[in-house]
Amino acid sequence: MRASRYLIATQKETPNDAVVISHQLMLRAGMIRRLSSGLYTWLPTGLRVLRKVEKIVREEMDSAGALEVLMPVVQPAELWEESGRWQQYGPELLRVQDRHNNPFCLGPTHEEVITDMLRTEVNSYKQLPASFYQIQTKFRDEIRPRFGVMRAREFTMKDAYSFHLTPESLQETYDVMHDAYCRIFDRIGLDYRPVLADTGSIGGSHSHEFHVLAQSGEDDIAFSSESRYAANVELAEAVAPAGERPAASKAMEELHTPGQKTIAALEEAFGIAADTSVKTLIVLGELSKEEAEAGKAAPLVALVLRGDHELNELKAEKLPGIASPLQFAPEARIASELGCGIGSLGPVGLEIDVVVDRAAAHLADFVCGANKDDYHLTGVNWERDVALPQVADLRNVVPGDASPDGQGTLEIKRGIEVGHIFQLGDKYSRAMNATVLDENGKEQVMSMGCYGIGVSRVVAAAIEQNHDDAGIIWPEAIAPFQLAIVPINMHKSEAVQQKCEHIYEALTAKGIDVLLMDEPKARLGGMLADTELMGIPRRIVVGDRGLEKGNIEYKGRGDSENQEFSADQIIDTLL
Ligand code: ATP
Ligand code: MG
Ligand code: MG
Ligand code: MG
Repeated sequence: MRASRYLIATQKETPNDAVVISHQLMLRAGMIRRLSSGLYTWLPTGLRVLRKVEKIVREEMDSAGALEVLMPVVQPAELWEESGRWQQYGPELLRVQDRHNNPFCLGPTHEEVITDMLRTEVNSYKQLPASFYQIQTKFRDEIRPRFGVMRAREFTMKDAYSFHLTPESLQETYDVMHDAYCRIFDRIGLDYRPVLADTGSIGGSHSHEFHVLAQSGEDDIAFSSESRYAANVELAEAVAPAGERPAASKAMEELHTPGQKTIAALEEAFGIAADTSVKTLIVLGELSKEEAEAGKAAPLVALVLRGDHELNELKAEKLPGIASPLQFAPEARIASELGCGIGSLGPVGLEIDVVVDRAAAHLADFVCGANKDDYHLTGVNWERDVALPQVADLRNVVPGDASPDGQGTLEIKRGIEVGHIFQLGDKYSRAMNATVLDENGKEQVMSMGCYGIGVSRVVAAAIEQNHDDAGIIWPEAIAPFQLAIVPINMHKSEAVQQKCEHIYEALTAKGIDVLLMDEPKARLGGMLADTELMGIPRRIVVGDRGLEKGNIEYKGRGDSENQEFSADQIIDTLL
């Protein structure tokens, strides 16, 4: 690229409405411009970086076996009503009407649309597992858009979705995606950590976030000093506030020692007759606020789910000694009373945890059963005597507290969430009846995973980690240009002009992104400052004085000193 035909658009002054460094530098380096709150235009330099991030993401998604698709930004309300999210999502969902008064929304995420696609395109288990992704615009009417593209209203996300016949297959793809995410962030050159995460309004059970460590991050991440345990501190925020959490009853306490109790223990505790058709048991505790404040233990409500969890077959069963208005409520009523999607109940007991957590979040005096200190596990799966994921309550942790995995103490750092992967189970596929025929010709609801990367946020996060007083220091893989050629008096010196053109042509032909600073009126100081502000990883300065000695000056963006390279061998040296 020749600067004379390009829009460099750098600015000296720090814009006063930009508080974080990446936002300041993206404006100053001529990458983005604000159109309105949370809406940004990507200028050529910004777009070059965004496209490089997209390219890496695309390559890794392709090699993880996901197929690229492109879904509409505008989505019909009917789909969201089917999933239940039209009511649940809240004001972050921008709702619009067309000229016929039909309701639509601007997609903040695409679970409904992809599930709709799968239920029509796929009908046999032989077509599973299947993964799809897109790199596309999302809209979320964020309550407080800020930090430039880091928390925008319109932004670019890579979202992928996988579909499975069995939970094991979902776990397999989840692991593949986890690895693909690690490769993506490694290739981009970020200092990041995968951490245990809450599932937010997307729903589901098992979930990890990928965080870029940076002071300006909006999330607190707790790390163990001795193990690989890392979790978002917001993890347990969905549970009722600490003051309203009752002490667990003895039975509950025993029941919910994470990972240790099986259905046998439940049978003993509650006197349930063994019944092989019981797949999952949820235990909820219910307490009035006053009772909770008085430190009373929660009475128990239990739902015993039978059969294969076809929603219309679900039965709630009363357990001894329990009085609760909710106990016999059909699941739909429970769901609406709790304001949570119980549609995610699946054959995997783990999902129940999340449903119950969500329930607790919606009724302050309704707490999930496992309010053993620091734990709010609730689901117990009939078929699996496996450790349930330990969901620790990290809301009040301070550095130095014991790590929930029992190894070492916790350290807390700030992180920027750049990626998030979820095992959704059948939350959407069940609600939207996305089924396939299994080996026996029987209809089975698919299991689903979803996997997001905030592609535009990654650009800002990379700057938060890589900058100095002079500007951005791009990791090579996503730099808008890999090399800048800065001529001294190019338009007066034939020798300088020839040399610069020669290097520019030769390196460009080799596929290197070169910016030739060939603007006739540009001053040396200004050009050098621009290449630094724009974060171009390498630059050479070509002038008559150096050429006479057979030299060209070179400086890496992170270097403190210039180096002299031989003018004759400069192309080979730079390749
Ligand atoms: P946050 O906690 O920051 O609001 P989220 O948990 O709501 O993010 P997800 O639903 O997990 O976001 O979406 C996947 C990814 O999209 C996030 O990990 C993040 O990188 C990106 N993202 C989410 N919201 C925004 C936004 N407003 N602007 C830019 N990127 C975003
Ligand atoms: Mg959000
Ligand atoms: Mg989040
Ligand atoms: Mg998230």
